Amino acid sequence: VKSIAVLTSGGDSQGMNAAVRAVVRSALYHGLEVYGVQRGYQGLLNNDLRQMDLRSVGDIIQRGGTILQTARCKEFLSPEGQQQGADVLRDRGIDGLVVIGGDGSYQGANKLSKLGIKTMALPGTIDNDIPFTDFTIGFDTAVSIVVDAINKLRDTMTSHERSSIVEVMGRRCGDIALFAGLASGAETIIVPEVPFDIDLVANRMKDNFHSGKRHSIIVVAEGASTGDEIGRGLMERCDVDPRVTVLGHVQRGGNPTHNDRILASQLGDFAVRMLMEGKSGKGCGIIRGELTLTDIEKVVNTKKPFNMELYNLALRLSL
Ligand code: ATP
Repeated sequence: VKSIAVLTSGGDSQGMNAAVRAVVRSALYHGLEVYGVQRGYQGLLNNDLRQMDLRSVGDIIQRGGTILQTARCKEFLSPEGQQQGADVLRDRGIDGLVVIGGDGSYQGANKLSKLGIKTMALPGTIDNDIPFTDFTIGFDTAVSIVVDAINKLRDTMTSHERSSIVEVMGRRCGDIALFAGLASGAETIIVPEVPFDIDLVANRMKDNFHSGKRHSIIVVAEGASTGDEIGRGLMERCDVDPRVTVLGHVQRGGNPTHNDRILASQLGDFAVRMLMEGKSGKGCGIIRGELTLTDIEKVVNTKKPFNMELYNLALRLSL
């Protein structure tokens, strides 16, 4: 591999810039040429690439979003689109590609790998829904944003003896709700992985009230239900008027935490080194401190296991 490209794709996440920086700097350090593709696979099809130098990625390690921008690209779903993408890279003499994104972006990288482009995929998504890595780039920052929001809600809830429902992101994966809920002492955590019963949630709230708790926090992942739906269910069952806060895209913004920057730096550098070793069609991750490679095929066909131990811990501690 002599020349590589890097792109960000799907939803953006904090730390994508740190990952782009690591890919570019590591490639240059190792004497490779490196190109940035603007707006994901769409930019690839539009031949929207520019050569990067050391300064192209200056002053971005601390920024949210992605300087390469991101997009969803329908054309790239077809074999013709994928062939066109591979041709664009080949015409420019680029033989390696690092894709930073979620599940769908991984599948795109795999298709390009089958067309002879050496590809590595990095988990760039706040949802933490990519298996074979403990954490995805952006997750840590998203969780701290939710924890910070719940801290603020707590102040006013305690003063007014109110309950709060906080709806967070996570369509298939409840990790943001789980980690933020545990870290902020939520009474109830509702995630897509664990079936919930609104009667039990209501009873828990009543029990807590009788044991002297005058406020409670419920964190719900969007993939399990909505804040409004839970709120209506509780109003029908207990004498409460819970306030619903939907955090939305706030969770995807802001400066990445040091954990996300370090994860992104390690993974970006690892991806470049693995491309230089001739590896392709792999997802990069860190499991218990160890850098790992897993076939993209396996990554996209495996559901990330849910951490029931943490979930049960949160339940035990929230009495
Ligand atoms: P997020 O987790 O934030 O949604 P994502 O990477 O899963 O991120 P998608 O919109 O699913 O986001 O995928 C991003 C892009 O990857 C798509 O717009 C498309 O261009 C490409 N892509 C998705 N699925 C495939 C596939 N099966 N084959 C080829 N390319 C794909």
